Amino acid sequence: MCRLEMKKIEKALQPQERMLRTQERFRRRLGVKEVDQPTYCRYITGPIERFDRKRNAFMCLNPDNPYGEEFRRSFKARTGHDHWRDPLPYKELDTEDRIGQSLSAAGWRLCNEYFPKALPVTPPEGKVELSDPKWNSRLIKKVAMFFGAELVRITELDQRWVYKGINIPHKYAIVVVVSHARSMNATAPDHLSWLSAVDTYSRLKFITTQLADFICGLGYEAMYRETLGWNPEVLMVPLAIDAGVGEFARNGRVLSPEFGINMRTKPVTTDLPLEPDKPISFGTHDFCMSCEHCAIYCPTNAIPFGEPTEKPPTIHNNPGFRKWWVRADRCLTFWAMNKKKWLSCGGRCIAVCPWNKPRVPFHNTVRWLAIHGPKPLKKFLVWGDKVAYHRKKSIKKRVNLED
Ligand code: SF4
Ligand code: SF4
Repeated sequence: MCRLEMKKIEKALQPQERMLRTQERFRRRLGVKEVDQPTYCRYITGPIERFDRKRNAFMCLNPDNPYGEEFRRSFKARTGHDHWRDPLPYKELDTEDRIGQSLSAAGWRLCNEYFPKALPVTPPEGKVELSDPKWNSRLIKKVAMFFGAELVRITELDQRWVYKGINIPHKYAIVVVVSHARSMNATAPDHLSWLSAVDTYSRLKFITTQLADFICGLGYEAMYRETLGWNPEVLMVPLAIDAGVGEFARNGRVLSPEFGINMRTKPVTTDLPLEPDKPISFGTHDFCMSCEHCAIYCPTNAIPFGEPTEKPPTIHNNPGFRKWWVRADRCLTFWAMNKKKWLSCGGRCIAVCPWNKPRVPFHNTVRWLAIHGPKPLKKFLVWGDKVAYHRKKSIKKRVNLED
């Protein structure tokens, strides 16, 4: 691309350049370190096989899935439903819940029904020569932000995170992040907290398909990748950690310095030459060791207390790590059991996380203390969060999902 055209696009994307610089400054001020290896590498205990997506708990509910027979039987016995997505009996819902359910159904639709192919890749004679990976990465981040991304990070695609049998030949993954509406998520478990989740899914699909189309238009291959339960292509958690979005947290999610775990992510893979970002380290493991909020307030005991362990509890977890294993089968069962009242739990584990706070000076100071303070201070911050936000031990009677 000639210098003049570069200047034109750079000028047009100045607001996004400013957003990027603000984000970089934010991480520097917090003392977030860039590291050569993702911090989960410390906890790898054995070979990591590419995961068979039929073992994904969401996919086990499909009637023809050979791994899910027992799960489907117990799911039906406990919930009365074949699938957590079975239609809700609207007439049995309270008016307030009908409003919430209508909202979440509206927020869900785009993500649920929109499975576009990328636009055709521009043939070689029309290709735009983009030979500077650093400049390309900056451009891609700014364009994704223009489309609505709140954070964008780039990594080389580690094929271990591509589900077994899925072929993704691209070298890079662009990880797009958007955050949940905090006021909606705070209602968990409720239809409105489910809305906060599905709204991010829909926005992510919109942003990633636009970004993929843009790259294809330049003459490079690109495709948004499915991560959801009925058609997943990649494991999003390690991919986002590799890209430096955040670190692995107790509830099995990625915890970022900006959003905590109050966010969703989706990738675009591509062969456009890019400069990958580095993974980051800011003490998430130590903080989660001082905090068990997500485990305490999860209504189904799906999140473990204490230290990480080596043995995966179910076939839905991939071995090879010492980690906090989350029981997704329990989430699903709970979601379906509570259909008359709540479409899903909607992420109570997200709502109660102390990192789920706005980026204002007070909370930024607390963030800094949470990263750099000694263990007693971390515990004090967790206690302070519990008191300040009136956390209650239980949402109602804890649901017994023990096998
Ligand atoms: S989504 Fe709900 S049920 Fe699942 S782990 Fe989080 S709090 Fe527990
Ligand atoms: S609630 Fe506490 S333990 Fe759970 S992810 Fe957040 S910081 Fe970690």
